[in-house]
Amino acid sequence: MPDRLSPRDILARLIAFPTVSRDSNLDLVDWVEDYLSGHGITCHRHWNDTRDKAALFAHVGPEVEGGLVLSGHTDVVPVDGQPWTSDPFTLTERDGRLYGRGTTDMKGFDALAIWALVEARHAGVARPLQIALSYDEEIGCTGAPPMIAAMQAALPRASAVIVGEPTNLAPVTGHKGGVSFDVHVQGFEVHSSILDRGVSAIMWGAKLVEWANAVNAETYGAEPSALAAAFDPPCTNVHVGMIRGGTAHNITAKDCHFSMGFRVVPGEDPQAWRQRFLDRAAALEAEMQAVRPEARVIVTDAFSLPTFVPEEDGAAEALVRRLTGDNATHMVSYGTEASHFQTAGYSAVVCGPGDIGIAHQPDEYISVADFEAGHDFMRRLVGALAA
Ligand SMILES: [Zn+2]
Repeated sequence: MPDRLSPRDILARLIAFPTVSRDSNLDLVDWVEDYLSGHGITCHRHWNDTRDKAALFAHVGPEVEGGLVLSGHTDVVPVDGQPWTSDPFTLTERDGRLYGRGTTDMKGFDALAIWALVEARHAGVARPLQIALSYDEEIGCTGAPPMIAAMQAALPRASAVIVGEPTNLAPVTGHKGGVSFDVHVQGFEVHSSILDRGVSAIMWGAKLVEWANAVNAETYGAEPSALAAAFDPPCTNVHVGMIRGGTAHNITAKDCHFSMGFRVVPGEDPQAWRQRFLDRAAALEAEMQAVRPEARVIVTDAFSLPTFVPEEDGAAEALVRRLTGDNATHMVSYGTEASHFQTAGYSAVVCGPGDIGIAHQPDEYISVADFEAGHDFMRRLVGALAA
């Protein structure tokens, strides 16, 4: 049996794998599987289509339903172009902080979850504890749905999930969802002096961008629902983050490409917003085709995440509130895998150590104090499951 590593030792191992989303996470998964199997814990994998990444999940305790899942992602955002003081893939302590890519988002929690699973295995638990480590979270939470389906087929079904994104250990019970698109407006090129006979993809595309501005004016101006009022801003908004197109001053643009992304408050349906946008794009396309039949508006789905809706008497929330004593209402505007777990029928809460404000930055760190607070949380958690 391998040594039982401290959370800090486990974190150092995890940070050393440069699991940027575009690259494989298999070295990390191999290490975790080796470590857990060394402690008698059976691991399962769900592979992606190209088999260069895998999710890992495992179960400890009685082979019964109703357990608790600790959910984390193994991938991290890139460090390209960021000024780091020390190697981002070497855990480095300075001034009471542990630096490294993923220390906050979210290998800190992953390390604590791995520690807790081994602890639960040795201490014994009456209620099962499971771990679920996904891939491709940072590129749109796309790894979670197939992982959850695979888990449900392989393990006794759990009932509650703690998604350990950094919340300073506050129980977060709701967040926005979203849908986004890549839009390609295809126009028709003519000399710009006779632009009425062509279709400028830029000038028509700008109408869709202006539609986004109008939607924001509408949603920001509306009275928020009780559910939406807990969010900042208390409404759905839509954003165009990239745009390019055209070839010359005096040619109507043949192509214009832009992104369009909605962040949707709980209580509203991301798919309804998707449909509203598709309807607007189709209406615009019809107007363009009245000028030139070749014109098109091609909308490609880029990203979709359900909203994470506060639960009535949520079991996951109740457990975390008991462990932390935090009874305040916390909502966030970033997306997590909690909405996928909730959609799959689990009670879910987002709660993890560290501050989301530090995530994705150069010199990302988790303070030693925050990491220790996470360790205390896991000790209480394992104790609660043993009882
Ligand atoms: Zn994260």
